[in-house]
Amino acid sequence: KARRIAAAAAALLTAAALGISPAQAAPQSGARYGPGAAGSGDSYFPNAGNGGYDVLHYGLDLHYTPPSGAGGAGNLTAEASITLRATQDLDALNFDLRGLTVTAVDVDGKDVNRGAGALEWTQVQDDANRRWELTVGLRPKLKEGQKATITISYGGATGRPQDTTGALYGWVTTPDGAIVVNEPDGAPTWFPVNDDPEDKATYSFRITVPEGKTAVANGLPGGDPETQAGWTTWSWEAAGPMASYLATASVGDFTLSYGEGPGGLPIINAVDTGVTGSALVTTDAALALQPEMIRYLSDLFGPYPFEAFGAIVDDDSVDYALETQTRPVYSGVAGEDTVAHELGHQWFGNSVSPADWKDIWLNEGWATYVEWLWAEHQGKATLAQQFTDTVAELDSKNLWGLDISDPGRDNLFAEQVYRRGAITLHALRARIGDTAFFAGATEWLDRYGNSSATTRDFEKVMEEASGQQLDAFFNDWLREGNRPAMP
Ligand code: ZN
Repeated sequence: KARRIAAAAAALLTAAALGISPAQAAPQSGARYGPGAAGSGDSYFPNAGNGGYDVLHYGLDLHYTPPSGAGGAGNLTAEASITLRATQDLDALNFDLRGLTVTAVDVDGKDVNRGAGALEWTQVQDDANRRWELTVGLRPKLKEGQKATITISYGGATGRPQDTTGALYGWVTTPDGAIVVNEPDGAPTWFPVNDDPEDKATYSFRITVPEGKTAVANGLPGGDPETQAGWTTWSWEAAGPMASYLATASVGDFTLSYGEGPGGLPIINAVDTGVTGSALVTTDAALALQPEMIRYLSDLFGPYPFEAFGAIVDDDSVDYALETQTRPVYSGVAGEDTVAHELGHQWFGNSVSPADWKDIWLNEGWATYVEWLWAEHQGKATLAQQFTDTVAELDSKNLWGLDISDPGRDNLFAEQVYRRGAITLHALRARIGDTAFFAGATEWLDRYGNSSATTRDFEKVMEEASGQQLDAFFNDWLREGNRPAMP
């Protein structure tokens, strides 16, 4: 502290000598504290995420009461302990939290409401602008580089949140529990978060549910479930850095099974006891292929990036699957193509994540291409055939108009993003050859693994791997409003 005062005094002296006012000089001294930004500036979700800090770890202690009847609300009472490092001098910072009420906040064990009036937290719920902010005042202030643990008590009724297109996401209350799938900006429906895919962190979960229910999150069990007075606490640890949209803590009447993949990789599946008949036959067959799929993709793209894999197969409340890290969620049934797709995302999307939501084709194009690769490997259809068929389909549906490198907020999951994305990758492979294509893919995963990157970063990696100038290629295949000439 003394050093800081000395530095400030020196800055004032210098300012006086230069004839500039202290206000102008202050930023140069680096001793100016202010609030972190309330948004990350994402192209499509500018208010999601926050500035001024980097989360290292989320400790989520969730207590969940499922609805008592079909269509009813659930109830969540929770405490989040968020360990972060300041990336600028901060006197306040924000988290994203939507539809839940905060009851207490403390910073490094000190109640934020204690002491001087400036120490307080406030909540904003502005649905129209998707601005769901919890602002926390910091005393003592946090200096750049300093760590703090902020503990937030919160809770409320859980319902069935919708994304900007009307699809269910976030903490989706189901008749027997909850399906938790956050992509793209649904994480704040169940925990206070820096909801920016660029800020990855590790997670620990403690999920307390009525005895008899099972709660499944990312990673590995953090110990055996513990039951007390009719409530069971399930612990999970996700040790690999994870983007918030990939976190899950699904609750239901699940049957858990434990198996192994290549190199002893733990594979943990949770299947809803309500999945029966042909849906169960399909699901069991697809889940049995997981070890072989992991082996196949590891040979192509390098080691599986995380500490575990598996599946959460819940009821059909949500009509899509999500690549939740280490343990994708499937709704109603897990088909073979979908399991291959969500596994592909562990490399493409989860290890290397989009830096901005407009880079979504890097996720969905690759995961679709992995489906194609797996289908060919299984002797179902050659890549050439799948490429030709998909091009013909986009032709017949007249779907070449969308620039998939910037598809627009409500087209994140449009069929063009998936299909034209896979087409682009196969055209790239035809253009630069197998060796450069797979060298480029592994370089992409090496360089940006456990991190995030943009479409331009991808173009650059592929240009380096091939030694070719690919500007025109990527413009034609990703951005042009017409079907490019076939390779
Ligand atoms: Zn996908």
